[in-house]
Amino acid sequence: MKFGFHVSIQGGLSQVPERAAELGCECVQIFSQSPRSWESTPPSEQEVSLFRRGLEQAAISPCVIHTPYLLNLCAEDKKILRRSRTLLAEEMRRAVRIGADYVVVHMGTKKNNSEQQALKLMAQSIDSSLQASGGRRVKLLLENTSGGGGKLGYTFQHLAAVLELSGHRGDLGICLDTAHLFQAGYDIRTRRGLKTAIREFERFVGLEKLFLLHLNDSLTPLGSGHDRHWHIGRGLIGKRAFKRILRHPLLRGLPAIMETPKKNETDDIKNMRMVKKMHERSLLKKIFTGFRATKTTLLDYN
Ligand SMILES: [Zn+2]
Ligand SMILES: [Zn+2]
Repeated sequence: MKFGFHVSIQGGLSQVPERAAELGCECVQIFSQSPRSWESTPPSEQEVSLFRRGLEQAAISPCVIHTPYLLNLCAEDKKILRRSRTLLAEEMRRAVRIGADYVVVHMGTKKNNSEQQALKLMAQSIDSSLQASGGRRVKLLLENTSGGGGKLGYTFQHLAAVLELSGHRGDLGICLDTAHLFQAGYDIRTRRGLKTAIREFERFVGLEKLFLLHLNDSLTPLGSGHDRHWHIGRGLIGKRAFKRILRHPLLRGLPAIMETPKKNETDDIKNMRMVKKMHERSLLKKIFTGFRATKTTLLDYN
């Protein structure tokens, strides 16, 4: 597994590679513009080339853009829907320009529509934005949510429905956030719960569609529908569960971005140390359990 953080673009894109490298990132996520604004000024050519070169020199890959929180691809307000589609198309184009690999978008929020109508609208929005952006090299990843407040994407069936309804299935993938899974009611705290969640994901969506993890512990309980991230191993998901997640053979190859709270830089450093420690042990375990693993199918293996 490759680990990284969501890193601030304060001071410009060109600041990101050094900031990320100092934190020990092997992959990185950014907002390409203010997450609470519709407007943005495109970065200069020089900023873009410093950014690209910096990431390459520090061997940081993949690079992920997280879309702004304002965006709602199943908004019932026509104006918000139009702006969201335009913004997503812009983000897709910007991703190509800055050399990003993935754009992550949250599943949308509905008001009066049924879930079925909202999922359809979400797929239509995706198709319209991808058509407008033209590019095909960057994958658009749908992120699962904690549910609550009309949010879609709290079940794997929702994610599967959008993939099915979209005419651009090949350009789409999934990003799973561990805190959101837990808050949505998937009990990934336990061995059995993790196994069930992975089986269900495989059944409804397919593991070949999983490109990214958001590694976050949760401050709010199982099934709360309330999205509050916490430091890895120190929230209600806990250390043992994260060890199992990081060691899981079906998840091991994925890049994992932490969006943990940062009061100061030592918070990030502590979280990075924690996940790397858990992961190193997993390599030892892999050697000792290698024989067993070859005798069981991957899905039976915990
Ligand atoms: Zn997110
Ligand atoms: Zn979250």
